[in-house]
Amino acid sequence: MLQTLKAQDTRKIRLIMHLRSQGVADTAVLAAMERVPREVFVPLAMQDQAYEDIALPIGRGQTISQPLVVAKMTMALELTYNDKILEIGTGSGYQASILAHLCRRVYSIERHKPLLIHAEKVFDHLKLRNITAIAGDGMKGWANQAPFDKIICTAAAFDKPPQELFDQMRIGGIMIVPVTDGDKQILKRYKKEGDDTFSVKDLMPVRFVPLLPNLAPASENADDDVLYPEI
Ligand code: SAH
Repeated sequence: MLQTLKAQDTRKIRLIMHLRSQGVADTAVLAAMERVPREVFVPLAMQDQAYEDIALPIGRGQTISQPLVVAKMTMALELTYNDKILEIGTGSGYQASILAHLCRRVYSIERHKPLLIHAEKVFDHLKLRNITAIAGDGMKGWANQAPFDKIICTAAAFDKPPQELFDQMRIGGIMIVPVTDGDKQILKRYKKEGDDTFSVKDLMPVRFVPLLPNLAPASENADDDVLYPEI
């Protein structure tokens, strides 16, 4: 057990150094990524790859994002410790856990209930009390908790982000979202300048699973379930 822990610690330090070499210079983001053990979000069969800079399957046809992309999206949000954030696509819960160390409160929505159940178990295990997650359709946002200071969408919107998400952001707020345009996806940063006005900036090409409407039926990708480490 001690051996395994040490091996994962070494891998984690190597990953943090790699992120720095790739231009992640924000020390608060790097510190948050050092504090969050990625192995608890990764299926048992892929434990040895938990600290590789790659996306990995988490069941239900979904993935835990690549650490470099998590770092860049987190930096792009320009977080302050007072921010209230909405995340669309809880998935493994990894991105939400990083955010939880850098802001006041994270609200996260996932359309696959089994993924949400595992993510909530991990939040509890890591004692991350400032994350509230629900199963639902994040394309509709979370009207009861709006307005949000920042919104992060970790699934790719087709053509443009849903209007509800714009509406639920406060003026001055930032939304980071991958948008599918033809056969490619671009990570975009929207800044809400007024009630109906935005500035938009292309950040980088990315590869995300699609943003899909409605809560997923229990049968959707059910043959793709995975086993997680005991926590
Ligand atoms: N942030 C996650 C990445 C998960 S992949 C992590 O750190 O692991 C994107 C997730 O978005 C998938 O789990 C997918 O089921 C979810 N998703 C797609 N469309 C959605 C929607 N409309 N509402 C909520 N979740 C959605």
